[in-house]
Amino acid sequence: MPFNNGKYDNASSVTLDHSGSSFTPTGIAMHYTVTDTLQGAINALNARDLSYTFLIDRDGSVIQTRDPDRHAAHAGRSHWKPSGGLTNTSSLNRHSVAISFVSRGFFRELDNGFAYDTDAHGNIQGEQYPASEAQRAPSTYDPGWRPIWHKYTQEQLDAAHRLVGSLVQEFPSIQDIYGHDDISISGKSDTGPLFPMQDFRDEFDLNGGLGFRTTIQSPDGVAELRRGPSSRHSSKGQLHNGDTVHIRAFSYTYKASSALSVDRPRRRYLTGWASVDVDGSNRHAGFIYASLFTDTPFVSALKQKL
Ligand SMILES: [Zn+2]
Repeated sequence: MPFNNGKYDNASSVTLDHSGSSFTPTGIAMHYTVTDTLQGAINALNARDLSYTFLIDRDGSVIQTRDPDRHAAHAGRSHWKPSGGLTNTSSLNRHSVAISFVSRGFFRELDNGFAYDTDAHGNIQGEQYPASEAQRAPSTYDPGWRPIWHKYTQEQLDAAHRLVGSLVQEFPSIQDIYGHDDISISGKSDTGPLFPMQDFRDEFDLNGGLGFRTTIQSPDGVAELRRGPSSRHSSKGQLHNGDTVHIRAFSYTYKASSALSVDRPRRRYLTGWASVDVDGSNRHAGFIYASLFTDTPFVSALKQKL
């Protein structure tokens, strides 16, 4: 067995300041660290009392910080396929094993064959990277945003493949896998479009459920399927009254105009914009505003706050 008393055979151990309590993992949340190095990630986590269960370095080496059934502080405000109540402060921290890749995430500029991050004055921060490590691609949930992403190494993807396969074998309660960008839409960008999430879902049968099933009920009979989570985004098609959708997740905003209760600034707040699948495929098709869904206790509770 790849796990021995909670310790993954292929990992070395690091202890972080944040220690978790026991829980039953039902999913795997994938992240990147937004650092150049593993040590930089560890320092950043400890500085904010945050944690991942596993980190995967650029060379594919795996670091374990706790048993997979002790929770990590990684997701913040987040939710996935809500089936009932959903509050502004919902979090998947006590539902998910957290795996994070050492990666800068995305680069602010690309110049002379090197990708790099800059500060507000245009000065290079941290490492410079060759163009071979960078790739421009549209964001899944905001196709108009096409940053230059830091590519995962093949060693990282191979290590993640082995680790996810081992976790699923060890913890049959794990039924789903998602990126931080899936569970905190518009709040987080990791793992981004370069991580082959659908391959992992398909190979390890981690498609979970389909999310909350509802139908379209629009005053004028039509609902626009938006490319991004606001009416400013263009429509990619129309749905009609009675059409079935599954709610994957609602997007977040940092603005004080959020639908749900606002407590402190600089936190993300739920909006009424839902990422939906329209054909039972479990894949993001676009966004629909919650006021265009048929009334159910769950939807009407949300509508009252819109
Ligand atoms: Zn993250």
